[in-house]
Amino acid sequence: MARTFACREVDIDCQWMITAETEARLLSKIQGHVAEIHRDLEMNDELTSKVQAAFRD
Ligand SMILES: [Zn+2]
Repeated sequence: MARTFACREVDIDCQWMITAETEARLLSKIQGHVAEIHRDLEMNDELTSKVQAAFRD
């Protein structure tokens, strides 16, 4: 079952969204996006938990 994430779900002012087949793949794509676009954010445990809580089917 595909999972979807959008930056705006965690109050990041960004229109980017992503869908992937697994949560692990989704998280890895989000980490790449954050590293590239949101350089002021650190993908630490707190943000990772927040991001994972915002995943949608
Ligand atoms: Zn973004």
